[in-house]
Amino acid sequence: MVVETFSPEETFALGEKIGREAVAGSIYTLSGDLGVGKTVFTQGVAKGLGIDEPVSSPTFTIVQIYEEGRLPFYHFDVYRIGDVSEMDEIGYEDCFYGQGVCMIEWAELVEEILPEHCTRILIEKDVAKGFDYRRITIEQA
Ligand code: ADP
Ligand code: MG
Repeated sequence: MVVETFSPEETFALGEKIGREAVAGSIYTLSGDLGVGKTVFTQGVAKGLGIDEPVSSPTFTIVQIYEEGRLPFYHFDVYRIGDVSEMDEIGYEDCFYGQGVCMIEWAELVEEILPEHCTRILIEKDVAKGFDYRRITIEQA
């Protein structure tokens, strides 16, 4: 599925829809360049899950856990990960194989530990279509 958005609000709204529909055990991977809108999308997902506290990129902790929503929400940003073993150290398996929803920014950096059933999301710019244009490709496993 490909969705085109023309503002951060539209990308947020798409995330919100996905958050509303997410079921326990879902894992979403997010790929795309820095500043493309991965965190904006994730903020929408959090809202859709009923999380009201502010969500920002957990760059220095790798994972941020939100438990106030409809389901536990595990927001990973693995951009600064040095080695995939750091994922073991933070106990990623409890998140990936638990009863919550995982969102993994920069998931390609931890490809080797991603389960088969991930829903893959790619966000891309196309400057020819405007500064705020984003093409969002969602590939269900
Ligand atoms: P990332 O997490 O991918 O590094 P962020 O979500 O932190 O990126 O930042 C995306 C930036 O792009 C924000 O400043 C946002 O306002 C801007 N932006 C402009 N147009 C869009 C759009 N269509 N969708 C998402 N973000 C957009
Ligand atoms: Mg981000």
